[in-house]
Amino acid sequence: MKLPILRNDEISDSVFLLAVQRRHDFKPGQTVKIGLDDGLPPRIYSICSGNRDEELQILYNIKGDGALTPKLAKLKPGGSVWMSEPGGSFIGTSDPAVWIATGTGIAPFYSMLRSGLAGNKILLHGVRRADQFYFSKEWQTALNTDYHRFCSGEVVDGTTHGHVNLFLEQRELPADRKYYLCGQATMCVEVRDLLIAKGIPFGNIVVEIYF
Ligand SMILES: Cc1cc2nc3c(=O)[nH]c(=O)nc-3n(C[C@H](O)[C@H](O)[C@H](O)COP(=O)(O)OP(=O)(O)OC[C@H]3O[C@@H](n4cnc5c(N)ncnc54)[C@H](O)[C@@H]3O)c2cc1C
Repeated sequence: MKLPILRNDEISDSVFLLAVQRRHDFKPGQTVKIGLDDGLPPRIYSICSGNRDEELQILYNIKGDGALTPKLAKLKPGGSVWMSEPGGSFIGTSDPAVWIATGTGIAPFYSMLRSGLAGNKILLHGVRRADQFYFSKEWQTALNTDYHRFCSGEVVDGTTHGHVNLFLEQRELPADRKYYLCGQATMCVEVRDLLIAKGIPFGNIVVEIYF
């Protein structure tokens, strides 16, 4: 359906939070497809808001040479986007789990947090720049010492310099819980291999790659 844009704010360099009115129920972690009136195929985005929130939000970054995101970023409130019904099988539960994200791959986990699923969770968030730790205040409040930040491009107080892999390589990892991976393909593939090498059953690894 075609939905009016309520907000489309740049929350960090080239990264936007788009809000429309929520029209459907969804499960935290699911995605929608977004398109414009330009005839191009829609792109997939994780929902980045809670399943009881009045607004449905999307966190996206501009791909400079991309077909959709440079145009999407120019839209103002009052403009509109085409949006599909929610779908997808990357779905959070209330069971203990480790959530691992790079960049805007934090979006489905933020939806899970806003939907009340953050209890018994550990979050690892890897980014390049310090201003890419989206929603860090909320994460700190919800998870406290179970919120771990990794910054590969700069040295920042309170974060580990490097990738999320560091944490996983250095610890005993419980095999009886799910590991959710979301974001860049390289991270998802490397971390999946690392988890398997450390004895995590394949069935306990749930992956959403942003390609
Ligand atoms: C399940 C899922 C969930 C996602 N959720 C999010 C999300 O929450 N937030 C988010 O920011 N993104 C998300 N993505 C990525 C998103 O769907 C888009 O791919 C992204 O926003 C880029 O869209 P675009 O149209 O601007 O770029 P595109 O036109 O798709 O181009 C993307 C990149 O691919 C290159 N490219 C395009 N065509 C080719 C080609 N034929 N050969 C080689 N290279 C090519 C372009 O140069 C560009 O660098 C998700 C993807 C998936 C699969």
